[in-house]
Amino acid sequence: MADAANLAVAQRLVATVVMGEGATGEYDYLVPEYLCDEARSERLLEPGRRVLVPFGRANRKVVGYCVALGTKVIDAARLKQVVEVIDGVSLLSPAMLRLTRWMADYYLCKWSDVLETVVPSGVRQLAGTRQVALLHVPDDIRQTLSQQKFRSKQQEHAFAHLAASTRSLTIAQLATAVGCTAAPIKQLLKQGLIESRTKRVDSGELESITAEREQPLELNADQQRALEGIIEGIESNEARGMVLFGVTGSGKTEVYLQAIERVVAFGRQAIVLVPEISLTPQTVRRFRARFDNVAVLHSHQTAVERHRHWQRISRGEVQVVVGARSAVFAPTPHLGLIVIDEEHESSFKQDTKIRYHARDVAWQRALAERIPLVLGSATPSLESWQKTLEGEFTCLKLPSRVSHRPMPDVATIDLRDPSISRGGRGAISRPLHQAMVAALRDEGQVILLLNRRGFATHIQCPACGAVVECENCKLSLTFHRHESVLRCHYCDHQEPPPAQCPQCKSEAIRYGGMGTQKLEAEVRARFPQHVCTRMDTDSMRTRGSHQKVLDAFRRHEIDILLGTQMIAKGLDFPNVTLVGVINADTALNLPDFRAGERTFQLVAQVAGRTGRGDKGGRVMVQTLSPEHPAICAAARHDFEMFARQELADRRELGYPPLGAMIRVVVRGEQEEIARAVAEEFAQRLRKHAIAAAGVRIIGPGVAAISRLRQQFRFQIQLQAPAIGPLQEIVLGATTKWKNPEGVFLTVDVDPWDMM
Ligand code: ADP
Ligand code: ZN
Ligand code: ZN
Repeated sequence: MADAANLAVAQRLVATVVMGEGATGEYDYLVPEYLCDEARSERLLEPGRRVLVPFGRANRKVVGYCVALGTKVIDAARLKQVVEVIDGVSLLSPAMLRLTRWMADYYLCKWSDVLETVVPSGVRQLAGTRQVALLHVPDDIRQTLSQQKFRSKQQEHAFAHLAASTRSLTIAQLATAVGCTAAPIKQLLKQGLIESRTKRVDSGELESITAEREQPLELNADQQRALEGIIEGIESNEARGMVLFGVTGSGKTEVYLQAIERVVAFGRQAIVLVPEISLTPQTVRRFRARFDNVAVLHSHQTAVERHRHWQRISRGEVQVVVGARSAVFAPTPHLGLIVIDEEHESSFKQDTKIRYHARDVAWQRALAERIPLVLGSATPSLESWQKTLEGEFTCLKLPSRVSHRPMPDVATIDLRDPSISRGGRGAISRPLHQAMVAALRDEGQVILLLNRRGFATHIQCPACGAVVECENCKLSLTFHRHESVLRCHYCDHQEPPPAQCPQCKSEAIRYGGMGTQKLEAEVRARFPQHVCTRMDTDSMRTRGSHQKVLDAFRRHEIDILLGTQMIAKGLDFPNVTLVGVINADTALNLPDFRAGERTFQLVAQVAGRTGRGDKGGRVMVQTLSPEHPAICAAARHDFEMFARQELADRRELGYPPLGAMIRVVVRGEQEEIARAVAEEFAQRLRKHAIAAAGVRIIGPGVAAISRLRQQFRFQIQLQAPAIGPLQEIVLGATTKWKNPEGVFLTVDVDPWDMM
């Protein structure tokens, strides 16, 4: 090797940078000395801050994240230099950087995309701050103050004022203070008598919210035992996964609150994830009533508000962060506990871009920070439950309601039975009608659930309740109207629609549809003297409308609240004495292996909204499948029975959590092209899967939602006993794969949405 080249090779400080967008991969840059010298630069380089770096042949200036900093023996001549450090503080601690790296590896996506997901855009844009030029008198000038010559009295005044000021001032502030224009001050700058330095400052304050204070409740024995379990975890200085399995109304929130008190007493912070912040105003209020510094993060916040919260949190000024899914990334400096309330809720899985599940990310964070993760639910996800069965997580139980209140009685109403049927064409059966009359007469309030979402076509026999299922997958078939076939959305099995019920030969076989709006009209007609309000995504479009309705319901200005799953969750209204489920089957027959689980959760959760006061409560569940295990178990408030049966079925079919799954969706506006691409990609997957044992690749088949936003959708499903081999196969197949124009491919690791 030539001498000249040898000379250039030396130990230098190198920053590893991931570009914010565009290029994948990590790039090394030389770090100029002044970027590490506090005396010479305001913004020092450290991992987790963003930098401006020259990139590509044209040396375009690009924003990247510094993910590592260290000395390397390199040929300095071959590396470009970092131009500038953008952030005044690190956006990601080393632990958070590792977490984002894990996410990129696990969810098979670009590290930069994860970084952009984790750091809110308001933070990236430094929203709500502005650059100001602040004036100060340099030290050397200060020491020779008496020798300075000024050109005017105004200059002298301005200089004297600044020299005496205890804080830096802007030009405008100084000019106002001494009553001059900017000109003499600029002259001082020019002469070098004063200097200016740019700094980012906050342009406002967060509005502070105060809540009425509330004392901790005295825990009952079960709550006490659960609290002790969590505290043991907090003190163990280890990662511990705990499922707080407590029936509806068992007082889980009180346990979280008191566990967090411990964490806060240790000078640490807690993160509490709730399904959808606007749906849980009650929970938020309780946190505010117990802790001085609570940050509530929700989707309605402006970029500025987000940035302020982020800063307060990262400075350690916030004790408790309450928020939806993405609050799992809150930059708490000393995290002591993560709680996920209603952990079974699907909103914890993000269904765009980075398809992460907050529960799994939270567990990784808990492992990294060696803290407990508490997963609370009356109907735990089978994923979490299975972990308790395998001993990876511990289970803390609250088997009964607080204050010895009984669980409400649940009656199922068999809609197949003509004698109790609807007395006409309505949705409300005679027994439900009578129960409503009785509840309203006794001044109780009523909740009616009808979870009619989007498309939900299925073929069911009204005579015997049979649902037409795929012969391979044991999942219900969907009727495709324009082609007039029944199709399995998993394996693409097809058959003609039957003229009669395959089980009882009834010819009345049909598929139906009753939505909440139709139900609302029916309720108004049946109960004209009572106030009825509908609550679903259509009626709750504007900000705050949800809270308004719930407040009115609490004040008993509404007698009957009807709606979709939105009304099934978390509400604690003692005067609700009747809950009616209009059709428990709506979710049961969706072509999704979690259909039974979702139905169980929904029915059990909505049933839990009643019987919370002294008047007691009852539940009536209308269904065409009263003997379905999910519905039977929900009627008996028996989660464990449900879990046993359902896990057995899943084991047989290798479905999660007793097997791993990755779902690939290929979509495009041209049906034939999208299909061909899906087929080609499936072949690539199969090629990469050859050596892997126990891997099943199903499809491509038409996705359950076969056409969405003018795009045709095809899906490929990968299953194996463990996720590792599947990730490797998909990684292998996507490397060097380029989507043809107009075709998009999404990879969903641990899919939640099967449609
Ligand atoms: P869950 O979340 O388990 O359904 P909540 O946390 O909403 O239950 O609690 C239900 C109700 O019981 C709340 O109104 C709460 O204030 C009350 N509660 C909780 N713990 C106690 C207790 N130890 N003593 C009395 N009331 C309690
Ligand atoms: Zn039948
Ligand atoms: Zn099938």
